[in-house]
Amino acid sequence: VTEVGQQVGHDYDTHHIVLDFGAMPFPVLEGQSIGIVPPGTDAQGRPHHPRQYSIASPRNGERPGYNNLSLTIKRVLEDHAGQPVRGVASNFMCDLQVGDTVEVIGPFGTSFLMPNHPKSNIVMICTGTGSAPMRAMTEWRRRLRQSGKFEGGKLMLFFGARTQAELPYFGPLQNLPRDFIDTHFAFSREKNKAKRYVQDAMRERAADLAVLLQDPNTYFYVCGLKSMEEGVVLALHDVATQAGLNWDTIGAALKREGRLHLETY
Ligand SMILES: Cc1cc2nc3c(=O)[nH]c(=O)nc-3n(C[C@H](O)[C@H](O)[C@H](O)COP(=O)(O)OP(=O)(O)OC[C@H]3O[C@@H](n4cnc5c(N)ncnc54)[C@H](O)[C@@H]3O)c2cc1C
Repeated sequence: VTEVGQQVGHDYDTHHIVLDFGAMPFPVLEGQSIGIVPPGTDAQGRPHHPRQYSIASPRNGERPGYNNLSLTIKRVLEDHAGQPVRGVASNFMCDLQVGDTVEVIGPFGTSFLMPNHPKSNIVMICTGTGSAPMRAMTEWRRRLRQSGKFEGGKLMLFFGARTQAELPYFGPLQNLPRDFIDTHFAFSREKNKAKRYVQDAMRERAADLAVLLQDPNTYFYVCGLKSMEEGVVLALHDVATQAGLNWDTIGAALKREGRLHLETY
């Protein structure tokens, strides 16, 4: 561990963790994840099973030129039913200090990978720590652009969180110019404001999404809470239908051509 950053509020605690692999080759691509093996054993005395975490940095590292990568990890203190629980791996990771070592397996993931060809459009739809792979893809494109190697293609980001304060660490990506990335936030628990989810933000941008849906160079990535999947796919369906497009044809093509990627947990 070479860096730990924390973003904490009364009901969330998200950590930005940089792991350095030293002399061990560990090539990764944006969209892949790694497995963390928590130390110790479970209540039955068996070794803990590994938990997966999306890589939040691009292929050449959080710090380019070094053999490192970053993760965005939310401390789990409640189970899905809202009961208090201490998630094994997330708490282990969120308690790490600089200099600690971690057992890693992987990398994993052969399909949630960004398109490589010029002029490909990327539509990223995420909630919470689902922003990690989007951060990796966006930063890779930003570096390509910076080095003059970027050959075009739109980036569109729909980002859902409970409140503005909860937005996971997005570092240098927060203030990117509009002509580089078209970002839309949706907050579901802002005081005195109506609940907004990513699918609401998507519907507001239906005209742009309808154009992108018809472009065979557009790739969709959905990552975050399991519960977002249905609403997001329904929003895409409605955007297509309202634009007079046949969702069955478009949806089937997206799946067949590997242009609709869902990774929810
Ligand atoms: C492909 C993939 C990528 C992932 N990427 C990330 C990532 O980038 N960042 C990240 O923080 N997590 C990510 N996860 C989730 C992560 O793998 C763990 O599931 C999560 O950290 C909880 O593990 P734990 O050991 O702390 O909890 P556990 O000890 O496994 O679980 C404790 C209890 O909490 C419940 N629980 C588990 N996860 C949650 C949750 N998120 N919210 C509420 N209750 C929960 C469990 O059902 C269980 O009852 C990813 C999962 C997958 C499959």
